[in-house]
Amino acid sequence: VHPLRILILAGLFYLLYRLVRGKRRVRRAEGNGPGEAPPLADDVLVEDPVCHTYIPRRQALKVTDRGAEYYFCSEECRKHYLANKGEKTT
Ligand SMILES: [Zn+2]
Repeated sequence: VHPLRILILAGLFYLLYRLVRGKRRVRRAEGNGPGEAPPLADDVLVEDPVCHTYIPRRQALKVTDRGAEYYFCSEECRKHYLANKGEKTT
């Protein structure tokens, strides 16, 4: 094997390594900006507390109740939850 080929290969690997590292650094800087909320995936599954089905969060109906967030599959479940939450004393 010609020693120059090894050098060229090593150089290529080094360039690739720098490229990957550089990209990672940029992505991290975008995600953790000061005062910026961590990016939340919209396609994460959330549980409907009424019928216990899982729905993608972007499709779910959201209700914020005393600081907690609840997600519902439909208006029907949301109404059901809102109608019953006052009766519970937990
Ligand atoms: Zn439901």
